[in-house]
Amino acid sequence: MTTPPVITAVPKNLHINGTWPPATAHRTMPVDNPATNTTLCHVADAGPDDAALALTAATRAQPAWAATAPRERSEILRRAHELLLDRTEDLALLMTLEMGKPLAEARGEVAYAAEFFRWFAEEAVRIDGGYATSPDGRNRHLVLRQPVGPCLLITPWNFPLAMGTRKIGPAVAAGCTMILKPAPQTPLSTLALTGILTEAGLPPGVLNVLTTSDAAGVVEPLLRGGGIRKLSFTGSTQVGRILLAQCADTVVRTSLELGGNAPLIVFEDADLDAAVNGAMVAKMRNMGEACTAANRIYVHTAVAEEFAARLTARMAALNVGDGTAPGTDVGPLIDGAGRDKVVRLVRDAVGRGAKILTGGEVPEGEGNFYPPTVLAQVPRDADLTTTEIFGPVAALFTFDDEDDVVQVANDTEWGLVSYVFTRDLDRALRVGERLETGMVGINTGLVSNPAAPFGGVKQSGLGREGGRVGIEEFLEYKYLAIPTG
Ligand code: ADP
Repeated sequence: MTTPPVITAVPKNLHINGTWPPATAHRTMPVDNPATNTTLCHVADAGPDDAALALTAATRAQPAWAATAPRERSEILRRAHELLLDRTEDLALLMTLEMGKPLAEARGEVAYAAEFFRWFAEEAVRIDGGYATSPDGRNRHLVLRQPVGPCLLITPWNFPLAMGTRKIGPAVAAGCTMILKPAPQTPLSTLALTGILTEAGLPPGVLNVLTTSDAAGVVEPLLRGGGIRKLSFTGSTQVGRILLAQCADTVVRTSLELGGNAPLIVFEDADLDAAVNGAMVAKMRNMGEACTAANRIYVHTAVAEEFAARLTARMAALNVGDGTAPGTDVGPLIDGAGRDKVVRLVRDAVGRGAKILTGGEVPEGEGNFYPPTVLAQVPRDADLTTTEIFGPVAALFTFDDEDDVVQVANDTEWGLVSYVFTRDLDRALRVGERLETGMVGINTGLVSNPAAPFGGVKQSGLGREGGRVGIEEFLEYKYLAIPTG
């Protein structure tokens, strides 16, 4: 197969201090297409020596970068926003090739990713401070905000572009330098994004990129070394716990966006069209490979059959295939391990009495495909109630009572997002307030928005990304005490 031009055009090396060096050990790693299980290209595979070089670059660049005019940082982001949109087709294709999502969804992600740069371009020039007199009148307090310092940003493979811009945007706006480590499955989107930021005028050393197959070997020395002042991580709860422990030793500030186990609740008074549409979005966005994916769908018994029939019809009508093919709704899962996990969870649920309404069979042939699947009458002790499915499987449970469904929805260690469908405003607010999640979608299956504070409670993470608080995570307070004299 000939290499597509978008793959040829992407830089394949590391990005350190404004240059594109190979890994010092000259190692490379393959990037595979999950639709075909073939290798698209190889990229540099960094080790600890490269991490040390990246840290030196980020540390050296920090003082001058912190001193740049906010407007200058803002305009770099604004230009990058426009370049991202101008290159939508190439970036979307790149993402589809390395990650699998259908082109239409990949285009949507480019727009979403670009929006973070626009939002933080606007935030960069709104960093404010304070000036006050102390209560006893003896001091003036001058409060200022300063960048926290060199940051380590670690991103996952499921939204390779948007998870990058969601972290880079506020770091640039705040005046922090960065080391970015993308997921090994999806380095190309990050490398293309890095090229765009360079074109937009980001100075050397501000963003350094380490692609690596040895995440632990590269990250641990960085976190334990003391030079990194902030970690922003999006990934699994399991890895988040390891990183939080490593951050403890050198008291590194952390923002963690971890796993979810989102409940989606359909009350008997819900607009069923809206509920089915919402469930489709909350379940099928990104083939279900999202921490916001509806993992448990609780439907009131009065509407359970009707809801299941309508959802099944919609799921069964989706086209599964290579994300680059026209008309594809559902691409492959990221890798064989991801698909094996879905297979195991479905088998467990069926073994405990769940009924398959559609899907459930792994197709023959190459690629990590799994069909859109609906499971009804799932028992509350199925493994998928305590495990992120991360695949196109809608698990339907029933309930009769509001208190019971809130209790079961909250009965999880996670707390990222929940979804509620009801026409009763009192109930929407009452249940919304009681659900132990950082975000609640009311009559909608989509909560992600650059202008809103995205994040979870409990073991879904620490801190928020986006919204007015997004930039706060990258800023420190300092106050100067000056006697009034
Ligand atoms: P997933 O299971 O969805 O791949 P992970 O949490 O394993 O989620 O991965 C998210 C990001 O964390 C990726 O960039 C991955 O390379 C990185 N990662 C995985 N393990 C570690 C680790 N021990 N230390 C640092 N980063 C890690």
